[in-house]
Amino acid sequence: MDHDRQSLDDEVECAHCGELVSPRFGTCYALGDHAFLCFECSVQRGGRLHAGLGWMVRPDTTGLAAPASSRGESSPA
Ligand SMILES: [Zn+2]
Repeated sequence: MDHDRQSLDDEVECAHCGELVSPRFGTCYALGDHAFLCFECSVQRGGRLHAGLGWMVRPDTTGLAAPASSRGESSPA
């Protein structure tokens, strides 16, 4: 029936701002297999996207793409 519809199932959260983005449009920067930066965050970090050619200048991803593992930081109660 509608098996070929443009579903939004592939939306992922931006690793910086948490905005939902869809990698299939090619406007977000892939940090890894499961981490993405949205277009706005990528540009703010110095990335330059060329239509059809992808990211000509990679955004600064310092501090991003960190695995979502719980750190052992001790917070004062
Ligand atoms: Zn973002």
